[in-house]
Amino acid sequence: MNRSEKMNGGVPSSELFELAKTLIPGGVSSPVRAIKPYPFYTERAEGAHLKTVDGTDFLDCCMAYGPLIFGHAHPAIRKAIQEQLERGWLYGTPTPLEPLFAKRVSQDHPGMDMVRFVSSGSEATMAAIRLARGFTRKNDIVKVEGGFHGAHDAVLVKAGSGATTMGVPDSAGIPAGIVAHTRQVPYNDPEALESLLSAHNDIAAFIIEPVLGNIGPVLPQDTYLQKVRSITKAHDVLLIFDEVITGYRVGIGGAQVKYGVKPDLTTLGKIIGGGLPIGAFGGRREIMELVAPQGPVYQAGTFSGNPLSLAAGMATIDRLHANRNLYHDLDGMTRALDESLVRHDQGSFVRLGSMFKYFFRSLPPQNYREVKECDTEAFQIFWKRMMGAGIFIPPSQYETNFLSAAHSDNDLSILTQAYQQCR
Ligand SMILES: *Cc1c(COP(=O)(O)O)cnc(C)c1O
Repeated sequence: MNRSEKMNGGVPSSELFELAKTLIPGGVSSPVRAIKPYPFYTERAEGAHLKTVDGTDFLDCCMAYGPLIFGHAHPAIRKAIQEQLERGWLYGTPTPLEPLFAKRVSQDHPGMDMVRFVSSGSEATMAAIRLARGFTRKNDIVKVEGGFHGAHDAVLVKAGSGATTMGVPDSAGIPAGIVAHTRQVPYNDPEALESLLSAHNDIAAFIIEPVLGNIGPVLPQDTYLQKVRSITKAHDVLLIFDEVITGYRVGIGGAQVKYGVKPDLTTLGKIIGGGLPIGAFGGRREIMELVAPQGPVYQAGTFSGNPLSLAAGMATIDRLHANRNLYHDLDGMTRALDESLVRHDQGSFVRLGSMFKYFFRSLPPQNYREVKECDTEAFQIFWKRMMGAGIFIPPSQYETNFLSAAHSDNDLSILTQAYQQCR
């Protein structure tokens, strides 16, 4: 009997999924995990590798969809969590970590004079949208087609990832009256934004993933984000950068530092929790001062600012500051992967630092419509071959793939070889 059989009583993934299907809708806790015919169940993870209950070792290029920039179970982050555990893990009172972590996040992001911690990225965007409405006293929001901001009513309109794959761009159960307040524009199209904002005067905010991460990466064209900034400013519309993926992923300070564009509000999540649940929203002081209890825009949460997530997040961000070369090194790895691919094929490789993806479309997509043109069948075949080669990439063609500090040179050569053989 091997180690994995001992730990779960020897129940294989196929059987666990049979049980899960009877108790959990679709057998999974989040739609994108519903791999056919059944998902593998992970028993443990370390560095860049996942070990399944079936005894398989996968090289992981999903990295929990973004949070794990130092890989799985990093010792320094584990230690921070353990040290906090010893002191308790939920108090219902402020902890010293909150002002310290808020200072760190605020100093790193030009667009975040003040910050409020919440428990997920979805919660952060929900609160940021309410705050934008409270501040501007306007009702509508604009989002980007294919932009994903979590699973709440206002933004579940042609969302990326799970929603796109499942073919339900609009969820059932959302009143038409709510979605009527959400307008959309194509990414990389400043003219569309300009004409929409010119035509309507009840728009509170434009919320955008500066780099589309949930159908991508789809990269911003040269001056797109700068234009977005000046157009929103001219129309008195708040600009919300949803940096839940890009925050600390494309560099310290996220996309707002990388592209030199200062939003009015910013949402964070994923990496800032070091692998534990977290979200944050922040922005200009005069806007943030409207958040309760300082102001009239209500926002609250039992687990907000919980010490375990903050401890793991602080350890992660400290480590990023101490290892700034990491971003350069990770960029070098995806560049090497890119350059190793033969050009005369049907796909395109898009990358930004440690974010990357092979699109089954001859030219890199510039927006949601072009992403939808990708060959889904070809992706499915590719995905199965990669799994066969021991490499786990997200099971949806719409998700970004990630590298981490834990991916070694050896992992990179295995990955390179797999890309050459599986496409
Ligand atoms: C993941 C993600 C969210 C949602 O965060 P959760 O923690 O899953 O609720 C929101 N916006 C973006 C850009 C994301 O990538």
